[in-house]
Amino acid sequence: MDASIESREVEKPPISFGKEEWTEIDKGKTFIIFLLHVLCIFAPFQFNWSTLWVVVALYVITGLFGMSLSYHRNLSHKSFKPLKWLEYLFAYCGVLALEGNPIDWVSMHRYHHQVADTEKDPQRLD
Ligand SMILES: [Zn+2]
Repeated sequence: MDASIESREVEKPPISFGKEEWTEIDKGKTFIIFLLHVLCIFAPFQFNWSTLWVVVALYVITGLFGMSLSYHRNLSHKSFKPLKWLEYLFAYCGVLALEGNPIDWVSMHRYHHQVADTEKDPQRLD
């Protein structure tokens, strides 16, 4: 891990965090996520194996390659350095996870590590 990234202090939260008003994009994302959860109610009645494999594949593409490998380990913590085309491909997979653009996510996540377990933590669960 690059020590210079961890040692820099950020006094204020990233611009994208802590907005007082919701943008149209925020409302659109919230609607899509709400709709996905409503549709999950019907999932047990529509089950088939091919759909399950599509879900697993989408989880691996967006969650594993996009969020965990790209946004978190590669872009936020610089844990490894992939080929440039692969870095862009994995970052695009992260965009498909509806977690926002890579720059805002990385900014918010680095701030999270500086203020973890405090009231300022943007990824706090309570
Ligand atoms: Zn982290």
